[in-house]
Amino acid sequence: MRIDLHAHTCMSDGTDTPSELVRAAVAAGLDVVAITDHDTSVGWDEAAAAARAAGIGLLRGMEISTRFRGRGVHLLGYLPDPTHPGLLAELRSVLDGRDARVPAMVARLRDLGLDVTVEGVRRLAGPTAAVGRPHVADALVAKGYVASRGEAFDRYLSPGRVAYASRAAGDLETMLAALRAAGGVGVVAHPWGRHDPGVLDHDGLAHLADLGLVGIEVDHQDHDAASRAELREIARSLGLVVTGSSDYHGHGKVDHDLGCNLTAPDELERLLDAAAAAARAAGRDVPAMIWPHPPV
Ligand code: AMP
Ligand code: ZN
Ligand code: FE
Ligand code: FE
Repeated sequence: MRIDLHAHTCMSDGTDTPSELVRAAVAAGLDVVAITDHDTSVGWDEAAAAARAAGIGLLRGMEISTRFRGRGVHLLGYLPDPTHPGLLAELRSVLDGRDARVPAMVARLRDLGLDVTVEGVRRLAGPTAAVGRPHVADALVAKGYVASRGEAFDRYLSPGRVAYASRAAGDLETMLAALRAAGGVGVVAHPWGRHDPGVLDHDGLAHLADLGLVGIEVDHQDHDAASRAELREIARSLGLVVTGSSDYHGHGKVDHDLGCNLTAPDELERLLDAAAAAARAAGRDVPAMIWPHPPV
């Protein structure tokens, strides 16, 4: 079984439509793929229809931007009720916070003499629910100022660069509670990517496990072999599920091809057991992932 539990579509900052993601997952030889757009479930229905047609397993999730002890943390939330009012309100404030800084970033770029506009960024962003820095980067690429999103981040949009603007993000503990109230389960995404362990060291992760975190994304391109080994050991000691995934963004990110990291089948089974328990605790029908065949 080839299982990849983290991928983006054009409903956030990937470049494939949800249907194209599902077809790309089949082409990459995956048995299960998760759709995890930033802070939104708007791609779920299209992806589900495509997965049923293509005969591939689909796990519906989202990657939520949060803050924990002063640091940005991405939380993968799987199988919540996407209509739960408390969760929706939290996601709305994250989406609004991301959207609200686009004019500030554009203004800084214009001060440098670069001809980008808020309208241009929004037009390029297309159907996404989460307009943000990647789409500002796309506008810079479209005008020929940089060759790629990566170069746009490196030169202008990363923290410390001239056009970076900070934004509000939901508190991780609050978000974890909202996710659980909606019957979903949380896995911390790439905890040591681009950072030292910092607040997500053993003690920080143990604290989150006490609050109901169920897993850690260990196998991710942003983690080297030593980090993966150490995170795997922390997960084992805390009884947390270990996941692996590509963080695929279509053409939006290089070196994140579907299937480049995988999740073990028994870890997916533990994740689904936890999701079923969370759904029952929230008083919901057990939400299923979409299987190509009825699960045995
Ligand atoms: P935002 O939520 O608006 O701050 O945008 C952050 C998103 O931009 C991340 O989740 C990544 O998907 C994407 N991103 C960050 N750094 C890069 C990079 N160097 N190249 C391409 N995409 C990036
Ligand atoms: Zn992204
Ligand atoms: Fe992320
Ligand atoms: Fe991601």
